[in-house]
Amino acid sequence: MIRIILFGAPGAGKGTQADSIEKKYGYTKISTGDLVRAEIKSQTKLGRKFKTVVEKGGLVPDDIIIKILKKRLRQKDIEKGYIIDGFPRTIQQAKALTEIAIDSEIAIYLKISKENVVVNRVLSRMTCTQCGAIFSSKEIPPKKEGICAVCGGIVKPRSDDTEEVIKNRLRVYRKETKSVIDYYRHKEELFEIDASRTIEEVFETITGILH
Ligand code: ADP
Repeated sequence: MIRIILFGAPGAGKGTQADSIEKKYGYTKISTGDLVRAEIKSQTKLGRKFKTVVEKGGLVPDDIIIKILKKRLRQKDIEKGYIIDGFPRTIQQAKALTEIAIDSEIAIYLKISKENVVVNRVLSRMTCTQCGAIFSSKEIPPKKEGICAVCGGIVKPRSDDTEEVIKNRLRVYRKETKSVIDYYRHKEELFEIDASRTIEEVFETITGILH
């Protein structure tokens, strides 16, 4: 079984590329952001705690997100392989993932050096509240306004995709997640891609790596 890990700042395109990889190769996309939002949506006690953290742009505690990921990985639909988007975000998470056995692993870093590019992408992003599909008012608008082309759910901007919250998410990313990228640079080959290019160009580079 293969594990593909996508790294990059919020807005780098991890979710969008994970969707494309899933479609082409049949590997299962696992987005910890989606898992967190599902918990919030179901209004569990944990979900209410998550809501406060997410709306400030912080990270949910390592031990909890690790547990949630492990639970997701116990489902049968990952047999062919899986793509992880949004995890690991801290060294503790990276160590926990390393302990989860896998036949082969590919780590891809979607790199964008200009902060205003990611901020603009996040501010024009819209997400399906039901299935998590990603749209953009600029690049890939939903065909029917406000309606998801995948599942028919409601498409709108995420509540944490505001200018203030994205600035904080980027701060957290620089502080916590950059060191995770170095961890992978030492652990195995890390494929770096210029993610400021178009969705198609980035995906073409990814398929070159996966072949
Ligand atoms: P982004 O656009 O920032 O990549 P995500 O959809 O991946 O957003 O995640 C949304 C929010 O969910 C994060 O800001 C964070 O609060 C929480 N979250 C997601 N994945 C993790 C993780 N691996 N560890 C801690 N918190 C996480």
